[in-house]
Amino acid sequence: KLYNMVQDLKGNIRVYCRIRPSFNSESRNVINFIGEDGSLVILDPAKPQKDGRKAFQFNRVFGPTASQDEVFKDTQPLIRSVMDGYNVCIFAYGQTGSGKTHTMGGPSGGSAADMGINYLALSDLFQMSNKRKDIIDYDIHVQMVEIYNEQVRDLLAEDSSTAKLEIRSCTGDNGLSIPDATMHSVKSSTDVLNLMKVGEMNRMVSSTAINNRSSRSHSVLTVHVNGKDTSGGTLRSCLHLVDLAGSERVDKSEVTGDRLKEAQYINKSLSCLGDVIAALAQKNSHIPYRNSKLTLLLQDSLGGHAKTLMLAHVSPEEDSFSETISTLKFAQRVS
Ligand code: ADP
Ligand code: MG
Repeated sequence: KLYNMVQDLKGNIRVYCRIRPSFNSESRNVINFIGEDGSLVILDPAKPQKDGRKAFQFNRVFGPTASQDEVFKDTQPLIRSVMDGYNVCIFAYGQTGSGKTHTMGGPSGGSAADMGINYLALSDLFQMSNKRKDIIDYDIHVQMVEIYNEQVRDLLAEDSSTAKLEIRSCTGDNGLSIPDATMHSVKSSTDVLNLMKVGEMNRMVSSTAINNRSSRSHSVLTVHVNGKDTSGGTLRSCLHLVDLAGSERVDKSEVTGDRLKEAQYINKSLSCLGDVIAALAQKNSHIPYRNSKLTLLLQDSLGGHAKTLMLAHVSPEEDSFSETISTLKFAQRVS
């Protein structure tokens, strides 16, 4: 039993890397090698000789031709463990334009053929719940919030513009980290699609006021699963599906005012996330959850028996090289 637990802990943080297709045929491609075993070699376009090669190792690397289904297949076991009572956190990291929203939400316009992890995960949970319905009665609810400049906003509220939500430490009475965000019961993937549309719309409303806000905020879709078995036993778990703000560093000499403040908030919360996961990976006794709203919100699904998957996204074009390196380094640090 103990041996199993030790093994479990070791396997609790996984890191996948996804490389999106190139959209610029003029650009040199920095991807040099993708291994079946999760290895990745990139080539510095400024140093095309051997010394420009940098190697990284992840649990898995998806190349530019990988389909949504392939990515989902490798994520599915993790998602299924939510039905067994594990808390799970899956987050997409990377610079703006690297494919985070494509992986999580699906392509813009939401063509049914290319659905992302959010939709596929919920569909899978409904299927599982149906299969087990004679043994366990499952109830599934979702919340969807956005964190922008360290403020949390409910994306599924009637009037999403108003209330700023508080985050509680998940050890609170009902175990919810954002007790005041609206909770929506979902019974089918159609219910989920409709809610996702509402959430997207609410995100968009604010992006007219502030330029391209959706890439400057973290969006968190939380799925709460409650199960009751025939003998009266209960189970409660949650799945956080996170589309992070773009990780690109902005040039401090070029931005001022609100843009600079925005960039500083993003920097801070992403580096806090990196710190928390690195501390977990090193099994430190102190895990700095309290340093950002993001890590506080995800606390219940980072560490302990929870399972975490980081999806690091990179663009293959040479002009993204320095951001690609910094994303891969961030991902390598926690894997
Ligand atoms: P991000 O959310 O990281 O800013 P997006 O998901 O919006 O990036 O991706 C940027 C553009 O690239 C979008 O038009 C998206 O549809 C496209 N894209 C991203 N990843 C892929 C992929 N794997 N296959 C095809 N198109 C992709
Ligand atoms: Mg996006």
